[in-house]
Amino acid sequence: DDPVLEARDVSRHYPVRHVGRRGVVHAVDDVSLALFRGRITAVVGESGSGKSTIARVLARLEPPTSGELRLDGEPVGKPRGQAFRKYLGQVQMIFQDPFASLNPIHTVEHHIARPLKLHGPPRSKAEVHAEVLALLERVSLTPAEQFARKRPHELSGGQRQRVSIARALAVRPEVLLADEPVSMLDVSIRLGVLNLLQRLGHDDGLALLYITHDIASARYFADSVQVMYAGRLVEGGPAEAVTQEPAHPYTRLLIDSAPDPDRRGVLDGGRAERLGEAPDLSDPPSGCRFHPRCPLAMPVCEEKAPPKFSVGGGAGEEHWAACWLHAPEEQQEQAQEQEAQ
Ligand code: ATP
Ligand code: SF4
Ligand code: MG
Repeated sequence: DDPVLEARDVSRHYPVRHVGRRGVVHAVDDVSLALFRGRITAVVGESGSGKSTIARVLARLEPPTSGELRLDGEPVGKPRGQAFRKYLGQVQMIFQDPFASLNPIHTVEHHIARPLKLHGPPRSKAEVHAEVLALLERVSLTPAEQFARKRPHELSGGQRQRVSIARALAVRPEVLLADEPVSMLDVSIRLGVLNLLQRLGHDDGLALLYITHDIASARYFADSVQVMYAGRLVEGGPAEAVTQEPAHPYTRLLIDSAPDPDRRGVLDGGRAERLGEAPDLSDPPSGCRFHPRCPLAMPVCEEKAPPKFSVGGGAGEEHWAACWLHAPEEQQEQAQEQEAQ
């Protein structure tokens, strides 16, 4: 199966200036990611690892510094004109804070009708109204007639996030990018919103990107898990393989510092006290960016960034890790020798 949306070697750097010194923040470096129809891909990482940045680039809210995006196999062009409008209709994003993304003065109906009027074919008032109601039912906000008339302050956080989802679905996208969609919601309603997203992915065939700092929720909810550290993807593969047999030392640390899902509930949110400091991305560590924190670091790790090495998988998705521990022996020796010269 071919990916719907793909990032190839995408980097996103931000110019910054501190204490008179010019620099650049390596928010995302060389990230390759593919999203498939009917499949949920999780990107997991701690705060500041570049998760929202890659989502914003995929949503084309900002351009990549280098690398390319492909939609349905075609490289995407400049962000203007008909093709760009079409892209925005195919790829939709929902954000962490459902309070900030809805306008308090407008009704739910107004929020959802807007994209219908802007993107869709011409429709009568009655047709728009009927579609708004259908969308509200699809996100389980019923009775739909009642919810259509409400304003954001009359809704709970979970209901607001459902309105954001309905609004994103209004243009019939193929891809939905969800940036920490439940992290600001009460623990008790997170599962309901995630189940809705899962239904949209698995039953309705959307390609779904689920961004989270909580690897436990990624394991239960996603098909594929990609682990991000300091602007780079460090491990990826089938959700079960990555979370049950993590190959990268950072993934292991992430799993060890997540709350015990059996004891505290899957969606309690990770506590990261054992993770330590995330690196400064305006001056990222050389070689493997994880080397200053890695208990297994070798001399080569400081010198050379590890490429992706296959660590298993069979049918379906490959399981890989960007870590020298998984290099075939001769390649590891070669790298060590080069480093010794
Ligand atoms: P969180 O879990 O806190 O949402 P994140 O993984 O989404 O974090 P990003 O928001 O993508 O991380 O940020 C990655 C890095 O890029 C951070 O170091 C951040 O400070 C930096 N960054 C993000 N946006 C900008 C910007 N507009 N200008 C400069 N630096 C930025
Ligand atoms: Fe640790 Fe080296 Fe692997 Fe990086 S490449 S995770 S430093 S062992
Ligand atoms: Mg973020």
